[in-house]
Amino acid sequence: MVPSFYDEGALVAVLTTQPLDRALDYKAPEGGCHLGAFVEVPLGPRKVLGVVWGPGKGDYDYAKVRSVLRVLDAAAMRDEMRAFLEKAAAYTLTPMPAMLRLATRAPGLGDPPSMRKVYRRGPEEPDRMTDARRRVLEFMNEYGDLAFTLKELAELSGVTSSVIKGLVKQGAVAEEDSPRDLPFPPMDPSRPSKELTEDQARAAAHIAKAVQSGAYGTTLLRGVTGSGKTEVYLEAVAACLTAGRQALVLLPEIALTAEFLKRVEERFGARPAEWHSGATMTERRRIWRMVGQGNAQLVIGARSALFLPFQNLGLIVVDEEHDTSYKQEDGVLYNARDMAVLRASLLGAQVVLASATPSLESWANAESGKYTRLDLEARFGPAVMPTMRTIDMRGEKLPSNRWVSEELKRAVDQRLERGEQAMLFLNRRGYAPITLCRACGHQVGCDQCDARMVEHRFLKRLMCHQCGETKPLPTVCPSCGAEDRMAPVGPGVERLGEEAVALFPDARVAVLSSDMYGSARALKAEIETIAEGGADVIIGTQLVAKGHNFPSLTLVGVIDADLGLQGSDLRAAERTFQLMRQVAGRAGRAEKPGTAMLQTYQPEHPVIRAILAGDEEGFWRAEAAQREAAGVPPYGRMAGIILSGPDVAQVFDIANALARNTGPLLRVGAQVFGPAPAPIARVRGRHRVRLLVKAGKGVALQGAIAQWVSQVRLKGDLRLAVDIDPQSF
Ligand code: ADP
Ligand code: ZN
Repeated sequence: MVPSFYDEGALVAVLTTQPLDRALDYKAPEGGCHLGAFVEVPLGPRKVLGVVWGPGKGDYDYAKVRSVLRVLDAAAMRDEMRAFLEKAAAYTLTPMPAMLRLATRAPGLGDPPSMRKVYRRGPEEPDRMTDARRRVLEFMNEYGDLAFTLKELAELSGVTSSVIKGLVKQGAVAEEDSPRDLPFPPMDPSRPSKELTEDQARAAAHIAKAVQSGAYGTTLLRGVTGSGKTEVYLEAVAACLTAGRQALVLLPEIALTAEFLKRVEERFGARPAEWHSGATMTERRRIWRMVGQGNAQLVIGARSALFLPFQNLGLIVVDEEHDTSYKQEDGVLYNARDMAVLRASLLGAQVVLASATPSLESWANAESGKYTRLDLEARFGPAVMPTMRTIDMRGEKLPSNRWVSEELKRAVDQRLERGEQAMLFLNRRGYAPITLCRACGHQVGCDQCDARMVEHRFLKRLMCHQCGETKPLPTVCPSCGAEDRMAPVGPGVERLGEEAVALFPDARVAVLSSDMYGSARALKAEIETIAEGGADVIIGTQLVAKGHNFPSLTLVGVIDADLGLQGSDLRAAERTFQLMRQVAGRAGRAEKPGTAMLQTYQPEHPVIRAILAGDEEGFWRAEAAQREAAGVPPYGRMAGIILSGPDVAQVFDIANALARNTGPLLRVGAQVFGPAPAPIARVRGRHRVRLLVKAGKGVALQGAIAQWVSQVRLKGDLRLAVDIDPQSF
């Protein structure tokens, strides 16, 4: 047993977020410290944040060991959290300091900053009572010992600040410095829910019962868009809150909309804590503290919310579980969906994975009995799934620079006449994917990456979608020097927007693309406006496929359904199937039935046919059979080893050295492929080379890989990253 308290002077191992390969020994400070304590320690000339991780190793001269400077907070990191970080690090082969960094990105340690807050002095009433003053005092009595700032109190009781200043003058309320955070208002799970359909009620009862069991379990909640998955998992959240435990709902960042928060607020009578990249540091620290104290019962957040220090977490919902944005692709390479399952299993908590188009991984886990699967078959109410059709583009004779077929144009015209909305979907940001010199054929590429520069007319610049670098549009060809011969080739959403304006001159056209708005907030505001009928034709990239309700949208036209099927990625079919089904699902969410039209040059492609047939079970089975035959996930294990550096020859040298010495991998029966240039061979001036490791399902791959890669010494600027369960293979 690891002792849970260390007396002053005892040796403790302190893990920091600094890139060291192990926890360092320190002496416990005056007054001692707890296991898991957040501490400040000296490191060279600096003071850094650390966590007491266990007893010290004692392999240094005791006299030379430095002391912990101070304990930063009365509360310590919980055993469960330390175990989670260790298991997550072992799974993803991430060094512990990097893992700890994820858990301490906005640590709310020590006392929160103080703020002027107003308090009720006593039961006395002021000499002069007015209606406004009475409102304030009644409000304060109702909220007992909660303290508010003057501005908050004015807002909440619906009076002007001067009313409260008057009360302060009269001595009825006092203004003082208060270190207290404003707690999150309590959630009320007993408020009436919507009346669930039979299907929904059965699913909700099943998950609620699992939550009440207090044991770990994962449920795959599958149901077409609009079938009421959200209603169902909100009931699971209610059961969790009723049981006195905290709940976490993870969403892809962009799906965290005001509309969604309003639904949650309606159900529970109060706003949940929102954890996302737009939140200020102060707000994040407050959430961190409140979550740790159990004073935030429900958190809605993006993937990093998984690393908050919950006191008593009982349920994690991963909405749109198939979404690729759950995989963090830089820094620590982890998939939030899988880490949610890991964290819940350590806690005795439940996981709900919700999706209209689950990942093949989750589908297979349900098939094998690891997950429980619940299906919602029908859309709620009168809404039905859209009719799906293909438009065979081989017969189209479109003039150059036009991408909308006659048939699709007529269909859009029809919706416009009926006062309905239509969406044109193209998964390509910017104006044109290629900028080409018509004299010599040169294509403008990024100087730092192995990628083309994409014209963004809205920004009036070319942009690299790998590194974000921009440059002005050249008027002279950078290669042959020809003047005024540079031309855009192919469509992006901005260009499609131009076409739509020309084709539908009377319609209001809106282009929705993540890079066209200054901030996530501005983008969300635009989405709300459109949902309320602020546009007739919506042009969008992938982001419109996620969780937004456009009630009068009845037609979705996919400009290029073949786009995702190119290339050799074994996941291409699954991705395309999911994306097309999701996009199509945007149509016909209310009373009016919807139609989806897919423009394609290969209408007989098996994936296109499966999308049309809507036979998900059949699609999965066929996909599963292919993956099983190839021995790839979810029927085998894979890992990518990415080596990178500024000198391509050096990078290949190291990769080749690894490829020659595969002993540790051979011992577990794993195979190595490569080295080969990574899917993106150069990013920000660094050349990237990939080795792929493939092994049987039951193989303990991490240990073998750790041993294998430890054979090479990385000199200078060379880096090695391990990507367990890579997104593309
Ligand atoms: P999903 O999450 O599967 O896309 P939602 O839960 O968002 O589906 O439901 C789609 C729409 O139908 C929402 O507007 C929701 O409020 C409504 N809805 C679903 N089930 C019910 C119900 N039982 N009673 C009333 N409205 C419902
Ligand atoms: Zn670049």
